[in-house]
Amino acid sequence: MSDSQGKVLDAIVVGTGMAGLYMIKRLNDQGLNIQAFEAGSGVGGAWFWNRYPGCRADLPIIEYSYSFSKELEQDWNWTEVMAGQPEIERYLNHVADRFDLRKDIKFDTKVTDCLYDEKSNLWTVKTNKGETYTATYCILATGCLNEPNYPDFKNADAFKGDVYHTAQWPRNGVDLSGKRVAIVGCGSSGVQAIPQIAKQAKQLIAFQRSPVYTFPARNAPMKPEFLAQAKKDYAEIRERQRNNEMGIANYNGPKKEADPSKPAKPKPSKKIMDITPEQRKQEIKDFGINVLSQYVDTYFNREANEIACELYREYLRETLEDPQKADALSPKNYPLHCKRPVIDTEYYAAFQRDNVSIVDLRATPVEEVTAKGLRTTQAEYEFDVLIYATGFDAMTGTIKRLNIRGRNNQLLADKWKDGPRMYMGLQSVGFPNFFTVTGPGSPSVVSNVLHSIEQHVEWIDACIAYLRENHIKTIEPKIEAEDAWVEHVNKAAEGSMMTAPTCNSWYLGTNIEGKPRGFMPYLAGTKTYRQECEEVVAKGYEGFSLAS
Ligand code: NAP
Repeated sequence: MSDSQGKVLDAIVVGTGMAGLYMIKRLNDQGLNIQAFEAGSGVGGAWFWNRYPGCRADLPIIEYSYSFSKELEQDWNWTEVMAGQPEIERYLNHVADRFDLRKDIKFDTKVTDCLYDEKSNLWTVKTNKGETYTATYCILATGCLNEPNYPDFKNADAFKGDVYHTAQWPRNGVDLSGKRVAIVGCGSSGVQAIPQIAKQAKQLIAFQRSPVYTFPARNAPMKPEFLAQAKKDYAEIRERQRNNEMGIANYNGPKKEADPSKPAKPKPSKKIMDITPEQRKQEIKDFGINVLSQYVDTYFNREANEIACELYREYLRETLEDPQKADALSPKNYPLHCKRPVIDTEYYAAFQRDNVSIVDLRATPVEEVTAKGLRTTQAEYEFDVLIYATGFDAMTGTIKRLNIRGRNNQLLADKWKDGPRMYMGLQSVGFPNFFTVTGPGSPSVVSNVLHSIEQHVEWIDACIAYLRENHIKTIEPKIEAEDAWVEHVNKAAEGSMMTAPTCNSWYLGTNIEGKPRGFMPYLAGTKTYRQECEEVVAKGYEGFSLAS
């Protein structure tokens, strides 16, 4: 069993999104013989598949871009503060070409099996094309949000019109002009898609189960002078990212010296509990509704959180003309910061349009899909196009669907049936020389994920170099280290709004029927995590077994 030339490869990389591309680059730089596989027909991962109208970054793109190449930073000219999907996809294609990564990628190829052989210490990887490859190291760069989630509606296939999922949007786009469109799901994807679809469609019905707390994105065209300055400041920006627990520098141009002749610029209060009800309203007026997401006490103090939630609902009642829409769009039964922050561009404005309506599935759940549309407990709604914006089986979905077998033929999905078990989100006991980039138990999706990707890729790359230099055949976590890490990850999430009893989210796995509830990412922060990773290495790969 071998690659097409009959050789055993050094490494196999699965997935060519932001993580896979950088992993290929690093392994190439080490001079390894590698093969990467990509299910899509192009690079980009999440930015390849999620091409629905309105899809864009939810962080300033200056911070959500690779830092590994100073030349790339200088050469690439972003056109928007929070770049849209087409621009990010172009950027990732540029990265693939610039660093000559395509030669290592087999496109339109799905990996089906990753099988470890204990005698040879090699991984055998099979694809849906009937090919088999063998390599020393197997690296999953399949991303945290990859496996689309479809609702388990009765008669799901009955609808005769067109059906799409935001996470599998057709490459050539979809013309929705003049169409009657329905969208199910109002999370980050739905919130981005709805305002854009509303502009095209004749009619748009949003079927919403949980309303979101969403804050204006404040996107804008990139000012040339800002970009020029950012290019000068990139080294400082990256340093600030490394020193921040979210991997975010909050870069806003160069620090200006305070002008003593002018009054200092007012800043919002740190804690909502420190100010009076009148001051809270004034701060919303002065700094915008986003201020509610910035009060630090709302993250851990339930009372502070509930005050912010009520102010949010009040803001909706004031913003939306139709009290019924305001009520339907008001999040009520879960705290702010429970789910991943949602940012939007004119989301609520879309609901002011006459062609946009909302169906509150909490009040009137879906009964079934029909040939013409969707029937709820209240009515049958007819439309031409049905769009699912219903999210993902996140973090573990893709990994568990692969036939990944380690020592004693153990299936990784079986080992993870009660929740993922990994050491540092990098490796799992029983699966030697098998790595995941931003796996469960690492900060990944609760940070600037590209910042986390770069840190993980660099750790894995350095680890492989170390193993090769020292003639070490396998690396695998020790069971006590893995158990302690799982405990450590659980502890880090305790007391957070993200694990509040009333919170449901894909972080907890509760968006998927039957998935065990458990907080999957590591919440202590990227700076802390980086230090922990560095300490492990400094102590001779503490917690790992290295076998020569
Ligand atoms: P999501 O946040 O999980 O939202 C899915 C939506 O579908 C929710 O409103 C959910 O309701 C609803 N839903 C799921 N199953 C349903 C069912 N059976 N019946 C009715 N409604 C159902 O997924 P997403 O919006 O795709 O976002 C996922 C993540 O992707 C985000 O948190 C973010 O990390 C990432 N993302 C990022 C960007 C960006 O960077 N700009 C954009 C889009 C997505 P419930 O809440 O009640 O489950």
